[in-house]
Formats: sequence, structure tokens, C-alpha cells
Amino acid sequence: MAEPTQTDNLPAIPRTGIAWCAWHEAYSNTARPVQDSSGARLFACLSCRQAYDLVPITDQP
Ligand SMILES: [Zn+2]
Repeated sequence: MAEPTQTDNLPAIPRTGIAWCAWHEAYSNTARPVQDSSGARLFACLSCRQAYDLVPITDQP
């Protein structure tokens, strides 16, 4: 008998707050959309944003 809550125990990717960091090429829950030098929108995690001096699009005016 399957219990309704069983699916919550899967090691799945959370529904929100995680994205593919294009800089270190892995999923991160700190990834935010940034614009690279060519104007493309990519996700970068917190440590990569600090390392590469990237500004999240949502933080811009
Ligand atoms: Zn990263």
C-alpha cells in the first residue's frame, strides 16, 4: 500500500530555488539569472557570481 506522503521522500530537485549554473555546470539552489557579456541570460550560483563579479538580473533596477 503506497502512502500519499511517500513521493515527498524522493531525492528530487526542489520545485523552486534551484537552477543550472552555467559557470560551474551543475545545479545550485543559489542560482539566479544573470546576463553574460554577450547579453545572454544564464543562471549563475552565488559562489560563481562572486567569483566572476556577476550581477543577478533581478537585482538590477
Ligand atoms: Zn556556479
